[in-house]
Amino acid sequence: MSFQKTISDQILLPIKIQRRLLAELINHSLEDDPNESCGLLLGTGDDADELHRMSNIADKPISRFTMDSDELLKAQEKVNKTKREFVAIYHSHTFTQGYPSKTDIKNAVAVASIATRHVIVSLVEKTRPVVRAFSINGDSVVTELVIETDGEPYRASD
Ligand SMILES: [Zn+2]
Repeated sequence: MSFQKTISDQILLPIKIQRRLLAELINHSLEDDPNESCGLLLGTGDDADELHRMSNIADKPISRFTMDSDELLKAQEKVNKTKREFVAIYHSHTFTQGYPSKTDIKNAVAVASIATRHVIVSLVEKTRPVVRAFSINGDSVVTELVIETDGEPYRASD
């Protein structure tokens, strides 16, 4: 007998991002607009408690992001010292929807040892930034995550 997987069997995995971090995430993205912003969410497990900005050193930061490897090392030392980890990598899309691009998926596979959760802020509508979160595993499988907060649940349409 084979097991038939249906939509209702899928478990919606959460990522917890405190509301102040969501606000910081959006602020960082608006400050760097039209370039993409990038950074890390630090914390424990799927629970982010700190936003750590990173420089986007990509040649074309308007449509790509590349994190600086020295900054990444420093961030790694910081989480090691505080016995935390990288909960997620975040970046912004200034002209496209908040869904991982082909390049994002390729890059995510390359950094899967650092973090497999990815948060994307879309600034397609500047007055209504939309935050979405995804898990991208080493096999390029993209799964959207539910964003939980410390207050009201986050809804992109708010
Ligand atoms: Zn992207």
